[in-house]
Amino acid sequence: MHKTEKVKKVRFAPAPTGYLHVGGARTALFNWLYAKNTGGKLVLRIEDTDAVRSTEESTKAIFDSLEWLGIDWDEGPFFQSGRKEIYRKYAQELLSKGLAYESDEVKGAHKAVIFKLPDNRKIVVRDLIHADVEFDTSVLKDIVLMKSDGTAAYNFACVIDDHLMGITHIIRGDDHISNTPKQILLYEALGFPLPEFAHVPLILGPDGSRLSKRHGATSVGQYKKEGYFSKAFVNFLALLGWAPGDNREKMSIEEIIKSFSLERIGKKGAIFDVKKLQWLNGVYIREMSLEALTSAVLPYLEESGITNKDTDEDHFKFIISLVQERLKTFSEITELAGFFFAKDIEYDESAVKKYLLKEGVAGILGKIINEIEREDAFSAAALEKSFIGVKEEMNISNSKLIHPVRVAVTGSAASPPIFETMIGIGRENCLKRLKNTLSFLNAGKFPFKIQGPGANA
Ligand code: GLU
Repeated sequence: MHKTEKVKKVRFAPAPTGYLHVGGARTALFNWLYAKNTGGKLVLRIEDTDAVRSTEESTKAIFDSLEWLGIDWDEGPFFQSGRKEIYRKYAQELLSKGLAYESDEVKGAHKAVIFKLPDNRKIVVRDLIHADVEFDTSVLKDIVLMKSDGTAAYNFACVIDDHLMGITHIIRGDDHISNTPKQILLYEALGFPLPEFAHVPLILGPDGSRLSKRHGATSVGQYKKEGYFSKAFVNFLALLGWAPGDNREKMSIEEIIKSFSLERIGKKGAIFDVKKLQWLNGVYIREMSLEALTSAVLPYLEESGITNKDTDEDHFKFIISLVQERLKTFSEITELAGFFFAKDIEYDESAVKKYLLKEGVAGILGKIINEIEREDAFSAAALEKSFIGVKEEMNISNSKLIHPVRVAVTGSAASPPIFETMIGIGRENCLKRLKNTLSFLNAGKFPFKIQGPGANA
C-alpha cells in the first residue's frame, strides 16, 4: 500500500431488533470483504438506541450468526445505548449554533431536538455503486436528532459514530439511500468530512420483489438450522450482487477476498435463488471429508431419534459415504439415510405396487432369504454369490431380483447400490425386513405409511 493512502475503515451497524436477516448478513460480508481486500478495518456497532425494540436476544442472535459466517471485526462491538452523552453533547452544539431547535411538544421526559433544514438546497449523493442522486431539501422534512425519550435518532447517532469511529466507507443497503442526504446535511452542520458511500442493491425474491418471509427463510440462523454448510452459504452470499467477472461460482474465501471490489457490485437487485444455494451446498458437501461430514450430520440424526448410540462409528461413516453424493443439506440426512437405522421402514406405495405386488415375487424373496441365511458372511462378495444363486435357480434377470429386494429392505424404489445398501442396513435388519415384507405379501396386506396428496390411510 502507498504510504499516503489512508487505511480504509468500514462498519457493520445492525439494529438488534430481530434475527440477522440474509440482507444484513450480506452487508456485513461485503464490509468484511472490503476490509480484508484493502487491508482495512471493520468496526462492529450495535445500533440499540431504540430501547423498546432492541433486545439482548437479538444481539446474541446477531453475534451467533456472524460467528457462524466467520465474520470477525477489528474494533467493537460498540453499543450506541452506552453513548447517549456523546450524542447529547453534539445536539447541544447544534442547538447553540442555531442549527437545531427544541420541539414544543413534550411527550417524554425530554424535549425532542430537531434539525432545521436549509431552504432550497440541492444535495448530491455521490455513490460508488450508483450514479449521482440529487435531492432538493424542499422534499425533505426536518430531521429529528434527539427523541423526547432522551435517545438519539438513527440518522444523528449514525453520523456522529461514523465520524468518531473514523469510518471512511459506508457500505450499506439501498434501503438507506433516502437517509443519506439527511446524513450529508448533518455531516456539514457538524463540520465533519464526508465519507464515501456505497449503497448495495437489495436482495430480491424470485418474483422480483424485496426478499421477505413469503419467499422462504430470511434468517441466517434458519439456514444454519436447515443444515447449510457455512462456507457454502458465505460463497453464495458473496455472489448475491457481486461477481468476480468470470464464470467462477464455487470460490474459496481467500479467492473471494482477493477478487472483491465495490466496482463489481451490480446496480440491480440480486435474486436469492435457493436452488442455486442447494446446488452450491451439495458441491461443498461432496468435497467434505467423511469425518467432517459425519460430525455435521450426526446432530440431525440424533435429534430425530434415528441414530442408535450402539451404531459403530465406522459403520456409520460407511452409510454416510453412500449418501454423500446425493446430499444437498446436512438435515437431508434423515430423509436419505433414515431407512438404514429405522426400526420399521415406511413403504412407498407406488414402489410396492410396481415391484412387489407381482407374480412370483414372494417366491423370489423366499429364496433370497434362504441364500442369505445359508451364508455366514455378509459382504458384497457373499451377497453377489447369493444373488447369482437365486437368479440361476429361478432363471430370472438381475432386475427381477434387485427391484423387489430393494423395496423390501428400504421401502423405496431408489437407493444407493443394492449390496452396499444391504451392508449398510446390516444382516439382521435385512433378513428381518425381507421376512416382514414376505409375510405382508403372503397376507396380501401392506401397512402403507404414505403422506401427502392422494395418500390413503
Ligand atoms: N442500524 C441501521 C440498520 O440496521 C444501520 C444502517 C447503516 O448502515 O447506516 O439498518
